[in-house]
Amino acid sequence: MTSALLRDLDNAHVWHPFCQMREFVADDAPIITSAKGFELIDTDGRRYLDGVSSLWCNVHGHRVPEIDLALREQLDRVSHSTLLGLSNVPSIELAADLVRRAPTGLTRVYYSDDGATAVEVALKLAYQFHRQKPQPESRDLFVGISAAYHGDTVGTVSLGNIDVFHRSYERLLFPTLRVPCPAVTQLPPSFDAASWQQHCLDELERTLAANAGRVAAFVIEPLVQAAAGILVHPTGYLRRVRELTQRHGILLIADEVAVGFGRTGTLFACEQEEVVPDFLCLSKGITGGYLPLAATLTTDAVYEAFLGDAASGRTFFHGHTYTGNPLGCAAALASLKLFETNRVLDNVAECSALLTQRLEEIRDSPNVGQIRQKGILVGIQLVADKATQQTFAPEQRIGHQVTLAARRRGLFTRPLGDVLTIVPAPAMPPELVNRVCDRLFESLLDVLIHRT
Ligand SMILES: *Cc1c(COP(=O)(O)O)cnc(C)c1O
Repeated sequence: MTSALLRDLDNAHVWHPFCQMREFVADDAPIITSAKGFELIDTDGRRYLDGVSSLWCNVHGHRVPEIDLALREQLDRVSHSTLLGLSNVPSIELAADLVRRAPTGLTRVYYSDDGATAVEVALKLAYQFHRQKPQPESRDLFVGISAAYHGDTVGTVSLGNIDVFHRSYERLLFPTLRVPCPAVTQLPPSFDAASWQQHCLDELERTLAANAGRVAAFVIEPLVQAAAGILVHPTGYLRRVRELTQRHGILLIADEVAVGFGRTGTLFACEQEEVVPDFLCLSKGITGGYLPLAATLTTDAVYEAFLGDAASGRTFFHGHTYTGNPLGCAAALASLKLFETNRVLDNVAECSALLTQRLEEIRDSPNVGQIRQKGILVGIQLVADKATQQTFAPEQRIGHQVTLAARRRGLFTRPLGDVLTIVPAPAMPPELVNRVCDRLFESLLDVLIHRT
């Protein structure tokens, strides 16, 4: 098929996620046919550096020989068989490997397919856990942080708090409590950075204490709220959340769907504050960015509350058809092994330092507001006026304009509103991270100079 025919069929039939289709159809987005290393190649042979690691999934690049081989070998054995009443080899090996690498005490692995389902599983397990523990309690509230994003199923949207994404569904959602985000873009009047952080800690403490007996779990993206625009929590916040939840018997759900697998500098973000959550939700990078797979890790204490005879009603009646898919698990095993073989975390450290240094080049630019970074997760906020922090009108779609300019320069990136993001794959070599910065910064100048 020619590019033109594919374009017509795409526009005629494919409904793209998180895209206003009227605008997407006009955008003439590249149609990817192949990839090599850290580049995507379209139907016209144009190459694009993958600047957001295919939406925060890719870890070692594309067409990685070791992962490709693991998949081919698994294809020769079996592609799928169910975990409902059966086991399969890669899902067992992967569970053991994840437990070995995860914070101590997370010993049980529940598989699903996506980030949202990984969180959804944790929500339901937490809810049911309290009803089935030795001293049963009926706790039916969850606490989340403002500007949270945990996926797009109705349950995870209930915990979410990004107005543009979530407001349409408001009446469909279950009620949740919300504590203020300690890393907001715009401080409310009468606060400075320090007093805002203290206020957030006070509110956290007050909310948990006041609702202690009613809260099933606290849901947090540890260290960085990625979809909110790469909001970086102050050091010690996660630790404090763990102390308070523990004190009140509230379970802690760590959504590491975006931050897991190296992006913040450690394999899991929780490690940096020596926190062991009750649930660790993993997806995106778990297969190296190859296949949809997710895992919710939990403790023996949670697991044991679900034990009983078949008639006890304690069974966890939840499952997804492709749970523990052998191909996905085989890819994940191969990907995890490469973390050591290729010293991926060392590369993350090097690229994090490089990004910090490169970001200085644009810090004083009149249209750059906050620059936020944790590890290799970067958010660059664009503002109409640096002095007043005035934002651009949404209809200007400045973030999107920069993305289009970047595409012409051979870089694929996707903004979060007016926040440009750089989310390289953890194994992207420094020279390519440099090239991502070159192309993005040039695009930024293009669009903003052109405008004035
Ligand atoms: C992407 C994301 C999800 C949802 O994952 P899907 O695979 O898209 O369902 C959940 N939580 C966080 C933090 C994410 O970044």
